[in-house]
Amino acid sequence: MKLSDIGEFGLISEIASASSPGPGRVVGIGDDCAVMPRNDGFDTLVSTDMLVEDVHFILDDIPPELLGWKSASVNISDIAAMGGQPEAAFLSFALPETLSLDYIRAFLDGFRKALDCFGLSLLGGDTTSSPDKLSISVTVIGHCKSGTARLRSGALPGDLVCVTGCLGDSAAGLRIILEGLPRSGPSSELVLRHYRPQPRVNQGLLLSTCPGVHAMMDISDGIASDLVHILKASHLSARIDLGNIPLSGELLSVCSENGWNPLEFALEGGEDYELLFTIDSQSEAGLAIPHTIVGQLFSGESGKVDWLGNGADHTDFQYKGYTHF
Ligand code: ADP
Ligand code: MG
Repeated sequence: MKLSDIGEFGLISEIASASSPGPGRVVGIGDDCAVMPRNDGFDTLVSTDMLVEDVHFILDDIPPELLGWKSASVNISDIAAMGGQPEAAFLSFALPETLSLDYIRAFLDGFRKALDCFGLSLLGGDTTSSPDKLSISVTVIGHCKSGTARLRSGALPGDLVCVTGCLGDSAAGLRIILEGLPRSGPSSELVLRHYRPQPRVNQGLLLSTCPGVHAMMDISDGIASDLVHILKASHLSARIDLGNIPLSGELLSVCSENGWNPLEFALEGGEDYELLFTIDSQSEAGLAIPHTIVGQLFSGESGKVDWLGNGADHTDFQYKGYTHF
């Protein structure tokens, strides 16, 4: 059997079943971070993510400072996704000899800026050579008050499905990069959204103080795929109103110029790093942070999404997000 036959998430299930789950209240494979309870009133959060040349970035296109920023930010985002406070990072590189010291210095400058911005220290890592491509692996550690990490499995029937920010900008930015389109005005904004993601740490921390927020994750593969993770973990289905998906002015303008469908970027495109959370309707009414309600959860077929609105019901149509393999 080839890897493409089971896909990225099938492979992760295979890995999970080949290892023993953590003891007690430990949360292991399957959420944005592992959660390790301590005995001082806090839980430790750990997440790790790789960025591989030609899979996650094109070396000649992304400026090294922005690659550094992005490598840190996409990992910090997983701590934000649990409602946690990030505190430390570990940085590992497999470096082709062709890279210059100036390149690495610029990368480190961007990496450090992201760590400074969100209050992390760089505490270690690993450095090796690579025969060809650049690979970067970052591990981030954080904490939250005991038992307050928001898991994908905590959603309840009736919860509203909400997101922070706008969706699709990053994926449209990637399309502009890949098609070599001109970068001016709104197009350059979208490329920057792809290269300079903003982890929603403050929003995640605020959301974790609201007991009505039951489940949360960050949108790294597109809401169409990421929402299904919450639905499967919580054994629920959802109705999503396509007319309510938040789209930026920049996305709408670039899409109308190029004849693209903005919803495809918003639903299937990854790397927005906005927060996707579920909340009971009473709590939502008092929520202070800016957000958009995009749908609601129901008991029913686990993992099923009905896409409604925008002129027509799309109940038979299944949007897909990004997956490796
Ligand atoms: P995210 O997009 O939030 O970074 P992923 O989709 O990469 O999450 O991973 C989903 C879950 O699978 C996470 O809990 C992650 O730790 C786990 N996981 C992914 N790859 C591996 C692996 N090779 N070994 C163990 N766990 C893994
Ligand atoms: Mg995540």
